[in-house]
Amino acid sequence: MSKQEFKLLHIDLTNGSFEDIIVPPSIFNSLLGGKGLGAKILLDQLPPGCDPLGSENLLLFMAGPLTGTLAPAVRACVITKSPLTGTFADSYFGGHLGPEIRYLGYLGIIISGRAAEPSYILLENGNFELRSASHLWGQDTFATTKNLKEEMQDSTVKVGCIGPAGEKMVPFALINCEYNRHAGRGGTGAVMGSKNLKALVLKGSETVTVAREKDFMEAVQTAFSELENNEDVAGFSQDGTAAAVDFANSEFLLPTYNYYQGGFSQADGLNADAQRKHLWLRDTACTGCPVACNKVGKIRTGPHRGLVADTVEYETAAMMGSNLGIGNTRELIYLLYRCDALGLDGMSAGGVLGFAMEAATRNIISTEDSEGVALEFGSVKAADYLLDIIASGRTELGRILGQGVKKAAESLGGEAEEFAAHTKGLESPAWGPRSLPGMALALATSDRGGCHQRAFPVLFEVGGEWKGEGVSRLGLEDKAEIVFYHQNHLAGLDTLVKCDFGQYGITRSTYSRLLNAVLDWEISPDDFLTLGERVWNLVRLFNIREGFSRKDDSLPRRFTREPLPDGPYKGEVIKQEDLDQLLDDFYQLRGWDEKGQPTAERLEKLGLKTMESISWLAEDPKILTGGSENEKPL
Ligand code: SF4
Repeated sequence: MSKQEFKLLHIDLTNGSFEDIIVPPSIFNSLLGGKGLGAKILLDQLPPGCDPLGSENLLLFMAGPLTGTLAPAVRACVITKSPLTGTFADSYFGGHLGPEIRYLGYLGIIISGRAAEPSYILLENGNFELRSASHLWGQDTFATTKNLKEEMQDSTVKVGCIGPAGEKMVPFALINCEYNRHAGRGGTGAVMGSKNLKALVLKGSETVTVAREKDFMEAVQTAFSELENNEDVAGFSQDGTAAAVDFANSEFLLPTYNYYQGGFSQADGLNADAQRKHLWLRDTACTGCPVACNKVGKIRTGPHRGLVADTVEYETAAMMGSNLGIGNTRELIYLLYRCDALGLDGMSAGGVLGFAMEAATRNIISTEDSEGVALEFGSVKAADYLLDIIASGRTELGRILGQGVKKAAESLGGEAEEFAAHTKGLESPAWGPRSLPGMALALATSDRGGCHQRAFPVLFEVGGEWKGEGVSRLGLEDKAEIVFYHQNHLAGLDTLVKCDFGQYGITRSTYSRLLNAVLDWEISPDDFLTLGERVWNLVRLFNIREGFSRKDDSLPRRFTREPLPDGPYKGEVIKQEDLDQLLDDFYQLRGWDEKGQPTAERLEKLGLKTMESISWLAEDPKILTGGSENEKPL
């Protein structure tokens, strides 16, 4: 059992109250922070079927037990019920906002209710306030951050805010964290907008407790060495994730023309070399991280000359580049800058724009609908126009597309659903899976909708190994097991909250040493797999309660019905019967029944059957009650 006491700050926007909540040690020991504790709070506190944009939904800013320590490559996350998918949503952000939660003395911040007017939350040591944000409403994310720092007369305060898209509750709006990091996926910004909450301003000065300093510093040293000596991490240091453009293009996994094909003839214009050559200005890093994978660039020529902005990571390079038929890095950085300023998730926005361009090509959207703008693939003008109408909602087409691909396809009707690339309503990520059955299964079973960050079998399927043997790329064997393992591995570490890129280098053994030193625990590296499985089941229980089942563990029709038209894997498609087979195998490994429901035996094995509900609204408002005593951590 951890001897440390962890607390959460509950802010009720409806009545403007702030109260501390103690996390019961038994709950902390079983779920830690981040995704684990956040999932438990959502499951126990949200009324089943609640409106994600209603005042009943909760917006959680969750750190983990390593956040704010010297452990490298650790972040924080936002957890809520997604207005885009209706599922559980967890969205991770780096930068410098997350550690501030710990410096204020908390493991997380829970925001409930709805403010009567546009507001922002100020949390400084000993000074908690809900302030009017009427003067900020309508401002983009960059102006909001800058103006709040000026208002505080303190450039060191940390700001998380929404832009116009969040205010309009576009369900793929993001939360901007300190200018260039984002809680991007799942519409966290729309939930913040629905609460009339423009921003959080944080400044803390408490020390994060580490129980065994010497052990901790030794583990930190090991983590730094692992990061330094890992080839993938070296690639992130050099180029961010943009290096994956060449890899995905050569393997015909690059979404191109709304996922129609897997290779893009202009990929050279989007890749890391192009970004470095034309844009690179400097590297930036999240608090204390030696990887510094974030790159800032400057457009030096052309119509957007002088613009300084983040260069583009793989996912957004693909979704807003090749997926739209745009192959110019300067135009790409401009479009992503627009997304960041408006407060739109660039990945979902790229999915929606690609969908709209194809709908226009098929005459499902007319030029009259788009006010005379030709929505052609490759047109930056069209992309710019679409971002404007989506974020502002000023035209009917903007309001339709602003619902996300799934609902837009339902609204447009006809054959639109044939090329709507999403799973459970989340726009597909930038890994076309038609030649990768494992990746297809990972997308179909991802808990927040189609997502590459819940498991990434590409690493195994393209020339990789599983249990010492080579993996057949197109075969079904081992794929369910790979997905099962990788989902558990990542979900376990998401309780810390780890960075997805750092975990390429840092081993589970080192994560356990770091955690043991912070908490004075003795857990093994493999305990993270059990923890991850427990968290995965907890989230599944939430999604089932919200009406999701096997039928939603699905793939876009484009991936199951339209064979890949290009490259060495031309003709490949994920047949529905193959997906069904993979789901059967996967459910069996998970201990779920054929409908995808966790069995009582598996829940019992994971300690979830006896885990009591938690409530801070019950008898004692200061104590998060419930949870059985659990002698053994994890
Ligand atoms: S690897 Fe990159 S994103 Fe992750 S913590 Fe380090 S700098 Fe931030």
